[in-house]
Amino acid sequence: MTKTYDVAVLKGDGIGPEVTEAAVHILEAVQASTEDLTLNILYGEAGYHCIAEYGTNLPEETIALLKRSNACLKGPMTTPEEPSAPISAAVKIRIMFNLYANIRPCRTFPNVEALKPNIDLIVVRENTEGMYSGAEFELAPGIGVALRIITKEASTRIAEFAFKLANNRKKHLTYVHKANILRITDGIFKNAVKELAPKYPDVTLDDVHIDAATMQLIKKPESFDVIVTTNLFGDILSDEAAQVTGSLGLAAGANIGETYGMFEPVHGSAPKYAGQNRVNPIATIMAASMMLDYLGERQAAAKIEKAMMRVLSEGKVRTADLGGSSTTSEMSDAIESKINAL
Ligand code: NAD
Repeated sequence: MTKTYDVAVLKGDGIGPEVTEAAVHILEAVQASTEDLTLNILYGEAGYHCIAEYGTNLPEETIALLKRSNACLKGPMTTPEEPSAPISAAVKIRIMFNLYANIRPCRTFPNVEALKPNIDLIVVRENTEGMYSGAEFELAPGIGVALRIITKEASTRIAEFAFKLANNRKKHLTYVHKANILRITDGIFKNAVKELAPKYPDVTLDDVHIDAATMQLIKKPESFDVIVTTNLFGDILSDEAAQVTGSLGLAAGANIGETYGMFEPVHGSAPKYAGQNRVNPIATIMAASMMLDYLGERQAAAKIEKAMMRVLSEGKVRTADLGGSSTTSEMSDAIESKINAL
């Protein structure tokens, strides 16, 4: 029986359209080479470029599209920085659909120069509160306050997700916090993790402060497996981990809730490279692979990953971030031809 999925695709801003188009080509190739799989690609408008026309970076039509789709592939979007402008569309989608778990895997790849060999870790970032709660005020001119909301409920939910993931991998979980300074907020997070530990007796639990974690990630990245942390710390650690393993252009992320998933590259819209057909599309292509895995299409997801690994192993097609001169479309064409040959 054919399995049909409605996939919302938001191209985003800057390099978003080119990397998203590359990922859609790959999804079409994998669909063509997989029996009984139909992906209805439904494009929606979102991002900085929408603000002038719609007054928002996430128009109502797009929200309706997301609601009727099974999952979303989201390109990177430029985030307005003026205080009165709409908040990040990614943050809005995460909060609207309660996509509480941000999963960001980072590992070493063949022929990609990394700081250290044998890195294979996953950052599990709490995605709905912390410094991204959006509760920021100017009390008086020149005096700003941001509320770093941390709840036991959200901390327990993300800790449970991370324990389960660690239990299925190397049974090693590191929780990262700053409870020595942020005693109340990170105290709640830290205690929520510790309270769950007896439920997962096989998982070794490590307690690391955020400042030490950023250093350890450079010194001994291979010593981490699953890292669980709060929103801002997770954002920073995952960018750092991506660069330690070679390039931000390779890192994909999943935003998962109880009923919906949104998949995106970890990187942003890199406006200075927009329209140059120069950046690496692999992060967005791997986000598409994570989406297929989430939809239960494990074989199709694995096919993309295998094809991508073959291209990197051969080392003939390399974008600028990997030390080569291949274009975005040459990279996606190479992955597509490997899919067709599998
Ligand atoms: P960025 O990730 O866009 O770019 C930083 C640098 O990383 C680039 O200059 C480039 O050298 C490298 N890079 C990024 N993507 C690459 C790719 N695919 N291939 C090769 N190299 C790549 O970060 P930024 O410059 O801080 O942010 C630009 C905009 O993106 C901002 O408006 C920011 O708010 C937004 N942003 C959006 C998201 C999202 O949509 N989820 C995430 C991060 C940043």
